[in-house]
Amino acid sequence: MSTSPTSPTARKTIQATELMGRIMREYFYDLNDAAVTGRRKVAWCTSVGPAELLRALGFAVYFPENHGAMLGSTRQSTELIPEANAAGYSPDICSYLTADIGAWLKQRTPLSKAYPGIERVPRPDVLVYNTNQCRDVQDWFGWYARELGVPALGISSPKNVNDVTEGLVEDVARQIEALVAPLEAIVGARLDIDRLRETVALSRRCSEIWRDVLETAMHSPAPLTFFDGTIHMGPAVCLRGTQQALDYYAVLLAELRQRGTDGVGAVQGERLRLYWEGMPVWGRLRQHSEMFAALRTAVVASTYCSSWIFPAFDGADPFRSMARAYLELFIVRAEPYKERYLADMQQRFKVDGIIFHDAKTCPYNSNNRYGLPQRLQASTGVPSLVLSGDLNDLRCVSDEQTKINAEAFVEQLLECA
Ligand code: SF4
Repeated sequence: MSTSPTSPTARKTIQATELMGRIMREYFYDLNDAAVTGRRKVAWCTSVGPAELLRALGFAVYFPENHGAMLGSTRQSTELIPEANAAGYSPDICSYLTADIGAWLKQRTPLSKAYPGIERVPRPDVLVYNTNQCRDVQDWFGWYARELGVPALGISSPKNVNDVTEGLVEDVARQIEALVAPLEAIVGARLDIDRLRETVALSRRCSEIWRDVLETAMHSPAPLTFFDGTIHMGPAVCLRGTQQALDYYAVLLAELRQRGTDGVGAVQGERLRLYWEGMPVWGRLRQHSEMFAALRTAVVASTYCSSWIFPAFDGADPFRSMARAYLELFIVRAEPYKERYLADMQQRFKVDGIIFHDAKTCPYNSNNRYGLPQRLQASTGVPSLVLSGDLNDLRCVSDEQTKINAEAFVEQLLECA
């Protein structure tokens, strides 16, 4: 029996969500306590910055991109972005950056509502970036460095890399090592190399179990979707290098594997499987999740969620393995690598089609702009759709157009099936 495209279709709630909420709550209260009491120094870090080094040095580590995503998912970003525009930051640049700076200027944070007693984001003692993802993070942290009078330190990463060569690894490893002395001076302690090894090893294990979580969606019907993944990646983003993240994913993985055994899909009556390439539209997560569920289509895999899988981490060789992990990322790589990676993911997750999200303010995560969808379709035969939108600026998102295009794409795929 077929379900009409507009009929509401149940999405299954993941029981582990409550546990994740508790872990994230503890993380944010701990950060707040560090900043308010001065008990520990606070470092802000880009999502694939040297978080392992900061943790091993004893910093409480905060990720502004996670805050940007919270501003997006709570739909506050669109009204805050103009504040940053008025300060000279273009509406065309990263809308995490503009939303976050806008929030600071307006002294707003979704943390206050989610976690009573937290009045503001934790004040940093140092800002640490890696330009492996984009230049915007350096400019973003540069703004706070000037605003707050705190140092911004970072790694200038190679970009558009085809092969991750020993020379590139050496360059980045030296840059990470050069961060140690200034960070030791800020935190007032020497780096314990054994603690760094242990932290890198924990990040590796977190990465492996997160990969196992995502790979449960190879099962048909898929027990989780891309939209679930964007929520459950919180500990992988904010707590990699800690035991809490590992403990959480063990619980989540067990639940998802049980779903697989029981034949329980995240989308009832799954009839199509899609891949999502690019950023989520944070302010439309629920809407997009419901729209695809109503089409009985499971978005089973994504580059975005998989970007927190770092097979290179190795506690035995911490600096070089961190450098390699930060360089092997999809976003750092050149188009031939990206094409091979996507073809492999399409095949492993058995997808019927691929959606490229063209995010207006993030060219680095919009991989439809240099002919990749066409080349991929020619080589794999898997059809693609480009959806125009944005991660945080909802003025760039047309809900009507998204719905029309998604429904037409699903119809097309069903006809091909
Ligand atoms: S990669 Fe894109 S979304 Fe992420 S910080 Fe850079 S510009 Fe913003």
